Amino acid sequence: AIAATLGRVEFKTPRRAAQPRPQELSVDEVRALMAQGAIAPWLQPKVRVDTCEVVGFEALMRAQDAEGRLITPDRLIGPLAAGGLLDQASMQMARQTIDFVGHCLSEGMAISASINISMQSLANFGFCQELVRAVDAIELDPSWITIEITESETMCDLAQVIENTARIRMLGFNLAIDDFGTAYSSFFQLSQIPFSELKIERAFVTGLGEDPARQAIVRACAQLGSSLGLQVVAEGVENASELAAVRQCGCSQVQGYLVSRPMPPQLAFDWLRQLDNVCVPLPA
Ligand code: C2E
Ligand code: MG
Ligand code: MG
Ligand code: MG
Repeated sequence: AIAATLGRVEFKTPRRAAQPRPQELSVDEVRALMAQGAIAPWLQPKVRVDTCEVVGFEALMRAQDAEGRLITPDRLIGPLAAGGLLDQASMQMARQTIDFVGHCLSEGMAISASINISMQSLANFGFCQELVRAVDAIELDPSWITIEITESETMCDLAQVIENTARIRMLGFNLAIDDFGTAYSSFFQLSQIPFSELKIERAFVTGLGEDPARQAIVRACAQLGSSLGLQVVAEGVENASELAAVRQCGCSQVQGYLVSRPMPPQLAFDWLRQLDNVCVPLPA
């Protein structure tokens, strides 16, 4: 059914569709936040499991309300998409993240960064052109930037996504398949889009050390990713037991609270600078 319609496919997992999100902001509220420049990337490090070297950061959307309280993507993405504001918000995120990478490089710290872009935005050729202009503007090599492709809540033109992502990849950007294992379309996407990275969904990583079934799944995902020549990243590693298990299963990189929670750019920069040889002290 998926492959049959290479045209319009709805990427939406039943789990997400069934869950009401009572805390979502209104379209007017997110529009106001954007106008105030209150939407910013918070950065979470990604680390190699063998050398414990920080290879980059993932940019995660955060906003702050009038009282300074943090607003997370589960309350933002829906209304942004509903208000037709997601492309604009994503470009704001992308520009700030690209500037962060440029700043780190100029200070002698070679790190990459990932941005989350919905299928819907990637179906838009104009959006993709703007991404290219954003790296060109600071003369940044696109290979420092990874685009994590996230599912879209709305219908999108998959053929267009495939065409645009192929173009972006050819220009040097990296592409990651995010939350691998959650979407029914994962394998289909894997066969159609030239990914460079596979991120295993946190749900499979949580409690991994004590769960042989999850270990079998994560090991299979890591093998699949490796045999396709992809970096394999385990998401949401929170403790030493999960770290040991993802190592055992053959993942090449980890991300999660064990290393660090997402940080505002200035803190991420300071955090990176105080490390010895950009390596984090992780349990062996
Ligand atoms: P994601 O891209 O899979 O990001 C990982 C999520 O897991 C983030 O949640 C992160 O804060 C959280 N996380 C990381 N490590 C741990 C851990 O060790 N334990 C636990 N419990 N959680 C961990 P966040 O920031 O709430 O983002 C949720 C989702 O929202 C993201 O999932 C991504 O799909 C989407 N998102 C975030 N920023 C953007 C954006 O700028 N644009 C778009 N389109 N989507 C975004
Ligand atoms: Mg992501
Ligand atoms: Mg993810
Ligand atoms: Mg996720």
